[in-house]
Amino acid sequence: MTDSQRREIERHLEDSLAALRRQALTGSDQDMYCADENEFASRLSEMRMSVTLQARISKQIRLVEEALRRLDVADFGTCDECGEDIPVQRLKVNPTTRLCVHCQQEVENAPHGAGTLDMTFGLSA
Ligand SMILES: [Zn+2]
Repeated sequence: MTDSQRREIERHLEDSLAALRRQALTGSDQDMYCADENEFASRLSEMRMSVTLQARISKQIRLVEEALRRLDVADFGTCDECGEDIPVQRLKVNPTTRLCVHCQQEVENAPHGAGTLDMTFGLSA
């Protein structure tokens, strides 16, 4: 990976982090005034939604922060499983990934679905 590719990914991660933090802030600003019971009920379900969303956002923030940390050390861009280089194109689309395409597929096809570390930003480059 070249320095400029690394910087490009770093910038992209920082942008994502800023956007996620903005989202986290607006999401937590809940107005609890309710006119009646129906509204109260719908507010409650909105809040449950927002808790799920908050959990997702904070997980994504952790992933992006982690990727930014790894960007400074040598192992960024190598697969956690097999140690092969992850293609720069894949890192641009998905900078928080820790697996190459091959190992990612193995994880996704695992019987109990170990889950995915993938998070697509859709960087067009
Ligand atoms: Zn791999």
